[in-house]
Amino acid sequence: MRFQELERIEDIVKPSNRREQRVRHFIEWTKKRLGLADEPINIVFSYDRDDAQDQHRTGQWDYQNNHMVVYVGNRNMVDILRTVCHELVHVKQGQVGDIQRATRHGPGSPLEVEADAKAGYLMKLYGKLHRDIFE
Ligand SMILES: [Zn+2]
Repeated sequence: MRFQELERIEDIVKPSNRREQRVRHFIEWTKKRLGLADEPINIVFSYDRDDAQDQHRTGQWDYQNNHMVVYVGNRNMVDILRTVCHELVHVKQGQVGDIQRATRHGPGSPLEVEADAKAGYLMKLYGKLHRDIFE
């Protein structure tokens, strides 16, 4: 099970992989739109459905360790990109100190509302430019 998952992750990180290229292009586009500082971000694409279900989430940003996890198993590209975008808004929130100042985190918090709203808006813009994300 684990081994099979690793092979599939290898699939998506191959430079020749079309989906991987699409995700990388989207990340660069979104970084510019959000005005993110040009710092490297560690992103792991996970097929670990058990983890996604247990944690009730499709992505996670650990700002203290500069580490992002995006769940990609059985998901449409537009959903994957929306999660990436949501987490990139959190990266921005960390860069400007909003996460550090926040008194509330988690569902319904201002940080989450902003991440969902900006991700929704940017996905609309990106979708108009790149219709192939609607698979
Ligand atoms: Zn979030």
